[in-house]
Amino acid sequence: MTAKILSGKDFAAQIKESARLEVEEIKNKFNITPGLAVIIVGENPASQVYVRNKHKSCEELGIKSEVVTMPENTTKEELLNKIDELNAAKDIHGILVQLPLPDAIKNHSEEILNRINPLKDVDGFHPMNVGKLVTGSPALVPCTPAGCLEMLDLAGIEIEGKRAVIIGRSNIVGKPMLHLLMSRNATVTVCHSRTKNLSEVTREADILVAAIGKPKFVTADMIKPGAVVVDVGINRIAPKKLVGDVDFDAAVEVASAITPVPGGVGLLTVAMLMKNVVKAVKLQYQI
Ligand code: NDP
Repeated sequence: MTAKILSGKDFAAQIKESARLEVEEIKNKFNITPGLAVIIVGENPASQVYVRNKHKSCEELGIKSEVVTMPENTTKEELLNKIDELNAAKDIHGILVQLPLPDAIKNHSEEILNRINPLKDVDGFHPMNVGKLVTGSPALVPCTPAGCLEMLDLAGIEIEGKRAVIIGRSNIVGKPMLHLLMSRNATVTVCHSRTKNLSEVTREADILVAAIGKPKFVTADMIKPGAVVVDVGINRIAPKKLVGDVDFDAAVEVASAITPVPGGVGLLTVAMLMKNVVKAVKLQYQI
């Protein structure tokens, strides 16, 4: 069997087009231009690339984008004040603080993120949004797992009643993915570094999500023949070589569908951010 390749580029284009249409509708019907503010503190080169991509996507879709650049030596108080200012800004509907923060304020990341008004929290990290996701209320959901779910839907992959296994239990990917899949009536198991007999568990999965951060960790023998494999991992193994958490070349012979790295889930994250900005506007204005 050779798996169908789930191309992030195609799905991201579909998600962005749907966001663009919603932006247009919000502008025409309600005279509101959705606005996103991205705060970047310091000069982390990878963060600068991510922020540029977010800005570019906003421009393509007609979303107002404000990039707030703050110096490396920004204090926690200065950053909190900036968030307060953006929380109060009428033309900004989504706020995100690009992580990681510089070492001097890194320990305060939680307090800083929690200062964002939950209705503007387009990263979906605020405890209020986490709670809503768990209880099944409308919420802003972290972009990467939300993008994975959207992709499964767009690819026509059935979720209800399926056995799903997630490797990884981070707040950003694994845990929200659990709640998203469970809310769609999958039977979900979450594995982590202390899971015993990991491959026995993963081999039960109809849908296997890998969010570990270890290059090519998931080998072909860990995959049930015909499973759908979603590889969230992004691992740099050489200056210009990225690989996922799944051994793609081997897995592609066992799975029925698989996301590549690069060119897979990574592209969905920014697309879902655009959807989250639209969702934030709708939640704020109850439209
Ligand atoms: P974290 O480091 O926060 O979490 C990794 C998880 O993997 C942990 O729960 C850990 O278990 C588990 N794990 C580690 N080793 C093993 C093992 N040997 N067996 C089973 N489980 C293990 O990572 P993230 O969730 O933030 O990210 C995961 C990957 O996804 C990374 O490669 C990251 O770069 C990528 N990523 C990609 C995004 C995208 O846009 N595509 C966005 C976000 C992340 P434990 O909890 O026990 O330590």
